[in-house]
Amino acid sequence: MRTLIVGGTLLTPQDSLPDHALVIERGRILGIEPGRPRAGAQDQVIDAHGMWVAPGLIDIHVHGALGHDPMQANQAAIHGMARFFAQHGVTSYLPTTLAATPAQTLAAVQSVAECPQPADGAQHLGVHIEGPYLNPEHRGAQPVEHLRDPDPDEYRAWLETGAVRLVTIAPERPGALEFIDLAVAQGVEFAIGHSGASYEQVVLAAEHGLRQATHTFNGMLGLNHRLPGTVGGVLTDDRIYAQVIADGVHLHPAVVKLIHRAKGVARTILITDAISPTGLPDGEYQLTGLMITLKDGVSRTSAGGLAGSTLTLEAGVRNAMQFAGVSLNQALTMATWAPAEAMGWSGKGRLAPGADADIILLDEALNVQSTIVAGRVVHPRPTP
Ligand SMILES: [Zn+2]
Ligand SMILES: [Zn+2]
Repeated sequence: MRTLIVGGTLLTPQDSLPDHALVIERGRILGIEPGRPRAGAQDQVIDAHGMWVAPGLIDIHVHGALGHDPMQANQAAIHGMARFFAQHGVTSYLPTTLAATPAQTLAAVQSVAECPQPADGAQHLGVHIEGPYLNPEHRGAQPVEHLRDPDPDEYRAWLETGAVRLVTIAPERPGALEFIDLAVAQGVEFAIGHSGASYEQVVLAAEHGLRQATHTFNGMLGLNHRLPGTVGGVLTDDRIYAQVIADGVHLHPAVVKLIHRAKGVARTILITDAISPTGLPDGEYQLTGLMITLKDGVSRTSAGGLAGSTLTLEAGVRNAMQFAGVSLNQALTMATWAPAEAMGWSGKGRLAPGADADIILLDEALNVQSTIVAGRVVHPRPTP
């Protein structure tokens, strides 16, 4: 049985193809055809007339939703997050940790490693470890008591799970470059974040294989015209992809535009950094090791600092268009193709023959109307 998505405008995302059909078989995109291909009696046909058909969104930095958090280290939490993300167009993501004790961190990594993919949500493609190897002076909401130097015994145990895909690190911490050398050789990506690295230290980390920056500008040493600092290194080293929280709170809209001007759509990655109260009403919430207050959707610690976001990636795409003045194709590129390229996921983030059938349908107002993961409609949930 094949699935045909017909009548819509495909955004590959580099190109726009009006009135083209996507042909899907066994979880993969079989082909792209103009017009309306003939459907067999067994084929499922999805009418996308008046809609944009785009690759599923990819969120490589997200801590939770609807009260669920990977630090809870259980399958129900991961599957709960996955359902919420799929409702907002995300088809794959990296559950992201917060600095915690060695036992809590390892338990979170192991739970992702052992978690089967959900039947009705976004797929987890491994784990993003954000902390504990961060700089306390740029900790943001990361619990300071859990920040530490890279420990080979600890990180070897993470790597043994096979689930680690991305690590946010302050490369100026003693032992960080040794960790980067070891793990990059095993296919792990590194992002500089919660860091006070000098420009020179950023370039050195890139020499060792670091290729991303975590929530650029937030939680890192800023830019001075005589001391370019962490931000100056991130914006000018063309090897580095810049993660951006486009919620209008973490960064002034003009700074989103500036990052896009420096890095281009191919090196700018939209993330949410969303935390577990995302999707819940304003109030007080207990995260693992952290109390936060949610007011008007903005999450803050008791000290008043920002603590992650409540952004959805579908809203992030709309915001990026407005803030950076880019087209829908370009904003989608930053939430699909760019993260897939940064992570080395060649079958994701694009509509092309052979790619995974992770697809979203957007209406004219750019709201997600349907989400398809590995060829199966997961949102809206099919009526039994
Ligand atoms: Zn952070
Ligand atoms: Zn984060």
